This record gives sequence, C-alpha cells and structure tokens, in this order.
Amino acid sequence: MNATKIEWTSATWNPIIGCRRCSAGCDHCYAERMASRLAGMPGPVGERYQEVLYSDGHWNCLQRFVPEVVEQVTPRQKPRMIFAGSMSDWFYGGGLHGVERCIERIAYCRQHTFQLLTKRACEMREYQREVYPKGFPQNLWVGVSVEDSSRLKRIGQLRHVKAALRWVSFEPLLQPIDAVYLHGIDWVIIGCETGPGRRPMDLAWAEELAASAKQQGVPVFLKGLNIDGNVVKDPAHPQWPAWAVRQWPQERQEER
Ligand code: SF4
Repeated sequence: MNATKIEWTSATWNPIIGCRRCSAGCDHCYAERMASRLAGMPGPVGERYQEVLYSDGHWNCLQRFVPEVVEQVTPRQKPRMIFAGSMSDWFYGGGLHGVERCIERIAYCRQHTFQLLTKRACEMREYQREVYPKGFPQNLWVGVSVEDSSRLKRIGQLRHVKAALRWVSFEPLLQPIDAVYLHGIDWVIIGCETGPGRRPMDLAWAEELAASAKQQGVPVFLKGLNIDGNVVKDPAHPQWPAWAVRQWPQERQEER
C-alpha cells in the first residue's frame, strides 16, 4: 500500500498488476507509464513489472497476482480510503483467482473503504453474480470509467452490480456527454486527461456533466480541469470555477 496524491483517495493498493487496453480512455494509460518506470527498478518490484510489459513498455496483456501485497492491508490499521487496483483493471480477464483473494481481504479489513474502478462493467457484474451473489462487501465501492458517450453502457451494467456504493469516473473526459442517466449511482468524478499527449477537456463539457449530476441528486467531485491550457487540480486556483465542487458520497460526507 502506498500513499498517493490522487485527490479522491488516500492510498493505492496493487496486489494485481498488468492490463490490456480496451477503449479510447486507455490511449495514454497512466498505469502503463508508471509500470514502465517501476520495471526499471532493481529487485523484485522491477522484475514483477517486467513480467507484465513488452520490452517497448506497453502492457503485454498478462496479469500478475502478488500475494505478498495482499497482506499489506490489515485489520489493525487506521481507517483509510484505498484505491484498489490503480495498476490494473481487475476484470479484464487475466486472473480472477487473484481477484477473489483480494476481495476476501477487503472484507477482512472492514475499517478501510476500498475504491475499485473498471472499464469491464459487464465482467464485474457477472463476477459479482457468480462469486458474491448477495453483493460485494460493504466496504467496497465499485465504479466504472466512462470517457465518452459510446461508453455510457458501462453505467447501465454497473447499476445491476450489488454493492454498497456505485460510482462513475468520467476521467479522462474526452467528449461532451449530453444525456447521462445516473439512477442508482452514488458518486461522480470528473477530470481531464493529464500527462504526455493529453487531450484537452473543454470546461463546458465538465460543467454540463456536473450540472446534470446535481440535477439528479448525485454528489460530484471535480478532480482536474483544463484552464488556459494547463491542468489545474487546486480548487484554490483563482480561475477555479464555483460550479466545480468537490463532494463526497453521502455516507462519507457524514463522517467528515
Ligand atoms: S483499463 Fe485502465 S489500467 Fe487498463 S489499459 Fe485501460 S487505462 Fe490502463
């Protein structure tokens, strides 16, 4: 488990690494870039990442389960928000055995809140039905990433996943999304793309999406915006707009 600067969580936990690109949101995959950097490290961490990358630094579509990392979260730790799987998409099909071990651990460490994101909503839904027919553990928030209108069906699939909390990450937001139906969704994150080659997000796209979520009573968290050609993540920035709120799901809001 590692501390992180990601604004909507406090730590990342990666007992599963490796992935396969599947849609436009993957084009500048941050996890792949990070994996490529880690693969250059001496020792077991570097070796582990070398196993999931081609020599050119792209995902080789293998998924690696790392049992020793599972045990980095324990029931005695102070409660934290933990992004589970920032270096993979657990449901891309590379190794569901590892996923089960991870979710068992999540259920065991009940004081933490784990946040999981996937682009394979259908696979996650099937997995939940088969392995956790009564629903995922209460401390697991499950979400999907949606980058453009063509991927809105992921939200429809997420709606059928039995979980304590369902969320949608519109990051990187690559196009305006006109009609989004958020029934059954508890939290929305919106953010622009970052890193080399980033595709700019129009402020109006984010504003419209935030307004739509507000109208449907869904809390919104604006993670990052393009302002004058720069990525801005600080709400104290003088040009950060008033509509760009950072809200948490209801249950979390009550704790804060
Ligand atoms: S699903 Fe996520 S981790 Fe996997 S390639 Fe796409 S952006 Fe990267």
